Amino acid sequence: MDLDERLASVTSRIEDAVREAGRDPDELTTVVVTKFHPASLVRELHQLGIRDFGESRHQEAQQKSIELAGLDLRWHFVGQLQSKKARQAAEYASVIHSLDRESVVDSLGASAAALQGFVQLNLTDDPGRGGVSQEGLEPLVERILGSGNLELLGVMAVAPVGEEPRAAFARVLAASERVRAMAPTARFISAGMSGDFREAIMEGATHLRIGSAITGNRPAAG
Ligand SMILES: *Cc1c(COP(=O)(O)O)cnc(C)c1O
Repeated sequence: MDLDERLASVTSRIEDAVREAGRDPDELTTVVVTKFHPASLVRELHQLGIRDFGESRHQEAQQKSIELAGLDLRWHFVGQLQSKKARQAAEYASVIHSLDRESVVDSLGASAAALQGFVQLNLTDDPGRGGVSQEGLEPLVERILGSGNLELLGVMAVAPVGEEPRAAFARVLAASERVRAMAPTARFISAGMSGDFREAIMEGATHLRIGSAITGNRPAAG
């Protein structure tokens, strides 16, 4: 299958799931994750109408954003972010999906650019995974709400390996309700990847982060 065919196939599967869930298709944004792929692929996807792109490594994302500066794109940073790199990421990213600690929130809140962000929730017991623990959610949300120019959109999560994705996304929806109790406008949910976007749509996802199902297999890193 070519790129346009893979994109069309994913788009129709998304439409099917949205219909099945009885949701409004306008609520959904598909972010195409292009990590490890060259800027030329982003260009091709732009020609096919895609405007929202996701990247997970700062240097790679920064380079692509410079190379593609002439195009009207929105960059979503979806990977783990160190506070040292956070301000640099804010120079090209419109949305950070991986707010998971106070130091990152503080450096972004102090940066000049207006920025939107999701709190990333860690659905595993492994603290080495990205994301804040269930107990840490409210304090981190407080911190974001008190920061200068970070606009909180909602919660983000990656379904853990070995858990049924629908059950994992139900936990994300419950966390989203806790966040909305604190910040009613933070109603968005970033969830769903190539293998589980249908389940995420069933549980209220608004921002799908889809890579390989659209881009094809990723080239080896480095
Ligand atoms: C790579 C990545 C994706 C996309 O993964 P696919 O399985 O290729 O769709 C989504 N979210 C995050 C955080 C990622 O790192």
